[in-house]
Amino acid sequence: MELNVKIPVIVKQICLELNTRGHQAFVVGGALRDIILGRESPDYDIATDALPERIASIFADAIPYGNFGTMLLIRGNTKIEVTPFRDDAPGRKPHYTFGGTIYTDLARRDFTINSMAYDPITGQFIDPFGGLNDLKARTIRCTGSTKRVWEDPLRALRAARFQAQLGFAIEPSTMYSLKAYASMLDTISRERIRDELSKLITSDHPFDGLVTLVVTGLMNYIIPELMEGMGMRHFNKPADVLEHNLLACRYVKNSLHLRLAALLHDVGKPGCAVEGKKGLEFPGHHLKSVETAKHILKNLRFDSKTIKKVLLLIEHHMFVYSPDSPLSEARRLISRVGWQNIYDLIELRMADRLASGFNEAAGPGLKKLINDLEELKKENSDYKIKDLAVSGKELIETLGIRSGPIVGKLLNRLLEDVIENPELNSKRTLLELAEKYLKEELYEDRHYQ
Ligand code: ATP
Ligand code: MG
Repeated sequence: MELNVKIPVIVKQICLELNTRGHQAFVVGGALRDIILGRESPDYDIATDALPERIASIFADAIPYGNFGTMLLIRGNTKIEVTPFRDDAPGRKPHYTFGGTIYTDLARRDFTINSMAYDPITGQFIDPFGGLNDLKARTIRCTGSTKRVWEDPLRALRAARFQAQLGFAIEPSTMYSLKAYASMLDTISRERIRDELSKLITSDHPFDGLVTLVVTGLMNYIIPELMEGMGMRHFNKPADVLEHNLLACRYVKNSLHLRLAALLHDVGKPGCAVEGKKGLEFPGHHLKSVETAKHILKNLRFDSKTIKKVLLLIEHHMFVYSPDSPLSEARRLISRVGWQNIYDLIELRMADRLASGFNEAAGPGLKKLINDLEELKKENSDYKIKDLAVSGKELIETLGIRSGPIVGKLLNRLLEDVIENPELNSKRTLLELAEKYLKEELYEDRHYQ
């Protein structure tokens, strides 16, 4: 079968180079899937019958990468992994062998939508498992047999993650195997679980992927503490405690720390539940949630910076602000959470409200807070560059840069920071920030050259 797929010229060139040396070369895996879907892909996988030493002799700059004979090529911002065809025997711990064909290579991949190959030089499209049909039907289905999940339980998480990223449905037998082998997730490292969970929640459809984790029982091996909220009714919200957490994750803006904060913001509720007049109440649940979330995030090996941000947001998510709150209340809130977190806290509150069944993300209290923050910024905006605790000369000397537009750019960014948060106006903090901004500027310059 032939198909017209738009492959970048640099990737084609690598395939052509392999062809002219007598080798086959196919674009395979996630990049092919994403291009057919019209999504951009920063990384490419090429499968070839050339062995690693041969690949290295053809491409002088090839870097050995990982344990499976992969050679990495970097062309501008694009990473291309060139890997010899695999010919693994099926089973739990496949013995990795070279010397297969494109067909054996595709047969060991996880899902049909990831098991297609395209030769960008001839246009030949190889699709032994019906991947294109499944792409059109927006279906995630195991390649070959659902034993694929038993062979490698990480594939169960990958299925839920692709569901969340692509908005696809999981085919019933595949879904069944996710549940059947859920307990095998115990054999997967916490770091790999963290990476899949992070991709799943920072996607366009986090709720769908999370529900799959819950109904298949996979969640018992990822964040069991969340499961305690299942079936625990709120007297004042349509969803139970677990679904409320999942919904908050769906509604909050897409960044990792916000999605984690939303997912875990009420995780401590089951530990605080008491029967009140109208139904269950959860006094002090924000603090219990902080304690539980800390344990969960450490266990999943999240970095300390992310953990700190998430816990701060959970701790303060019950802040009170009403249309009658005086400006001093906004000041107090800022002194507790800092300007650098206040807008994230507002995002979390809006998601919490939507997940509680409110139609409007911001109610009158929250709207007043947003206005009051603008007032506070005006109060602070008397600051001028000359009021900063560092001068342009000091930046030049300390950072070792030459005078020029970059100095003005850095000073202006520092000024914006100080207007938002006057506490930052100390020499040490501003120099640290300037150093960080300088790195970002240099990175961007390199990136767009
Ligand atoms: P993304 O890059 O967005 O994470 P992807 O599908 O490209 O998605 P990679 O981890 O980059 O995933 O893997 C590239 C390809 O390798 C996949 O498309 C799939 O064909 C195969 N693959 C990756 N992990 C597995 C696995 N655990 N079992 C079987 N095949 C896999
Ligand atoms: Mg990939």
